[in-house]
Amino acid sequence: MEENQSPKIQEYEFKAEMKQLLNLIVHSLYTHPEIFLRELVSNASDALNKVRFRKLTDSDILDPESELKISISLNKDGQTFEIEDTGIGMTKEELIEQIGTVASSGTLQFLQKIKENNSNLTADLIGQFGVGFYSVFMVTDEVTIETRSIEKDSKAYRWKSKGDGIFTIEEIEKENRGTRIYFKLKDEHKQFCDDNTIKSILNKYSNFVDFPIYLNGEKVNTVSALWHRRKEDIKEEELIEFYKFISNDYEEPLGHLHLSLEGVLNFKALLFIPKTAPLFLFRDFTEKSLLLYSKKVFIQDDCKELLPDYLKFIKGVVDTEDLPLNVSREVTQYSPVMAKINNILTSKILSFLEDWLNNEKEKYIKFFKNFGSIFKLGLNSDFTNRDKIINLILFETSKTAAEELISFKDYVSRMKENQNEIYYVIGNTREAIQKNPNLEYFLKNDLEVIFLTDPVDVFTIPQIGEYEKKRLVSVDKSDIKFEETTAIKADSLSPELSKTLLDVFKRILGDKVEDVRESVRLVDSPVTLVVGKSGMDKQLEKMMQYMDKDFKISKRILEVNMTHPIIKNLAKRVIADENDEILRLSVLQLYEGALLMEGYLQEPAEFVSRMNEIILNATKV
Ligand code: ADP
Repeated sequence: MEENQSPKIQEYEFKAEMKQLLNLIVHSLYTHPEIFLRELVSNASDALNKVRFRKLTDSDILDPESELKISISLNKDGQTFEIEDTGIGMTKEELIEQIGTVASSGTLQFLQKIKENNSNLTADLIGQFGVGFYSVFMVTDEVTIETRSIEKDSKAYRWKSKGDGIFTIEEIEKENRGTRIYFKLKDEHKQFCDDNTIKSILNKYSNFVDFPIYLNGEKVNTVSALWHRRKEDIKEEELIEFYKFISNDYEEPLGHLHLSLEGVLNFKALLFIPKTAPLFLFRDFTEKSLLLYSKKVFIQDDCKELLPDYLKFIKGVVDTEDLPLNVSREVTQYSPVMAKINNILTSKILSFLEDWLNNEKEKYIKFFKNFGSIFKLGLNSDFTNRDKIINLILFETSKTAAEELISFKDYVSRMKENQNEIYYVIGNTREAIQKNPNLEYFLKNDLEVIFLTDPVDVFTIPQIGEYEKKRLVSVDKSDIKFEETTAIKADSLSPELSKTLLDVFKRILGDKVEDVRESVRLVDSPVTLVVGKSGMDKQLEKMMQYMDKDFKISKRILEVNMTHPIIKNLAKRVIADENDEILRLSVLQLYEGALLMEGYLQEPAEFVSRMNEIILNATKV
């Protein structure tokens, strides 16, 4: 950096997280360094698309007549690589903001994840995160960007960095609009200044770039809109490369859907379902990957109106004939054309998924494991397609093998003859659920229970209400219709004694509980807590409490197992003396033990001191 002393060169520091990220990229053993080329071409193509869009409504710009193109120049002797575009360029602020920081707010978690896995920047991580421009630091030690923005009176700037935490910016003379990026290749990557190498890499996707690409002066691509070709004429490899190009995914897609509609509505769509979910499924959606075109001209890359939120993991292109070319963001937002396209796409995608579920279950399960969480949110937002969505939901149950998933349809088809309700239980993990005493009755009576372990389940599944006229009920609720004639009642306490005992429980627990009742559902546990008929689901309460510290959980109903030895012992004590101290301590302890199981015990100190008192009594010689 010869002119480092010049007062015109300003030095900046990358943000802390950026530094860490750069460090990782530079020192990673990433096995696909050629990815830098795709990132640079894709950025250039974005920049050119922005010019094309701007020109639709505004010709008062710098170089309105210049050809929209990408030029790559390689120099073997100097071992240099250069890429130039006539795109929108960047202002000084944009250079600082967009090149100096990572757009994604998930950066820190991303770094954390890498540290946790103690891994290098592996293919899947880099692919999921999309480090974009910075991938150049895999192949070079220092990068220079020279750029001039589209505004007529714009100034030009040179940005330089060694990827070591610092970058400099200086004002320069540059006549034309656009961006030029150049660097010297590291020795171990000098293959990237070879024409044939670059040509063969470009070959994979250059035909999807909407602008001519010149390599050392020679045009290397034929611009063609893949989605306008007939299905039969598109090769599988072309689809895969196209997907990778628009999505920045390193993997091939799980599947794709090609639509061509003519009639009232005219549009073509090429949509892809990725193989794996991004690290942050609910945030930071790389919305750039669903592109809106109008008559082959790129309009927008973050078009929220094209698909409902619960399908926003889908990537691809939608090209319509029904929007005016000079469409503005406001138009796309409120256009009835967009709403209609949205409806059709949604319904086609759902049918497509249905087809997978019925005919390619393994593929469907892959999809569902990756995107099920976000997909289920459709239950709360898309009422038109609710029934379709319900049929596409899969879950584990008390009877499924590990990794096996079934649907509501499967569940209902294997319900027992006299079973009228669909049972579910919500918990953090399968293991935690299996310890829930409220499950005992169902396991004992061979009734299948749906296990819901996905955090979004609590907001979505209970809303289903009923399926094929069968009510969905939580095993944690008090209003389940149990079969009365179960064998477990045989060795139960007498009705009179049960009643007396329940009264004693009520007197001791007072207003700690909503009620105390005889339990039908318990087999091995002495007591359990359930939620009243109108009470909120236990897991939902937990979430509410998590979000709002002052949130009060509803009072529980304590159910008592009249066949349990502890309870029978307590009954004997009641007969002897209703005011027996051990009786009182035991009832409180049973109640608090159940609370503890639910994670709601407020005063562990009292619980422990009471337990010590009971132990003291039990250990008396
Ligand atoms: P991404 O492309 O995923 O946003 P990058 O790190 O590749 O991430 O680029 C960051 C930003 O820098 C881009 O979003 C764009 O605003 C700007 N940028 C990069 N390359 C160019 C270019 N050739 N012309 C204009 N702007 C660019």
